[in-house]
Amino acid sequence: MTRTGSCLCGNITYEIEGDQLAVAVCHCEHCQRQSGGAFSTNFVAHESQLKVNGEMALYEDRGRTGDAVYVNRKFCGSCGSPIVSELLGSEGVVAIKVGTLDDTSDITPDVQAWCDDKQSWVNLEGINALAQE
Ligand SMILES: [Zn+2]
Ligand SMILES: [Zn+2]
Repeated sequence: MTRTGSCLCGNITYEIEGDQLAVAVCHCEHCQRQSGGAFSTNFVAHESQLKVNGEMALYEDRGRTGDAVYVNRKFCGSCGSPIVSELLGSEGVVAIKVGTLDDTSDITPDVQAWCDDKQSWVNLEGINALAQE
């Protein structure tokens, strides 16, 4: 199946071909800051499954250590919606922000990550936690 999505203003649209590898909730501090929400919810897929229409702005996220870029965070430069993160530690894997999908009716998270950064009120019982080093 083909999924579609867009940013808030509509300058960026995209299509995803096929199924997700996972739907992952990320509680990390950087996802909280970028989204302005308590966590990000991500449709994790192969880069080859995603086709983006429009020119996205790029933030090279160097993480807490400030060393090498570990995530390319791509967003709409007009309205600011985060669209996709390229996970440089897992080459060819992208995390598409579920909140930008046109239809989220069949989306349920499988895993959650960076649970140490989770906001205290968030309780996602029943979703497996990924261990972080
Ligand atoms: Zn936009
Ligand atoms: Zn994160």
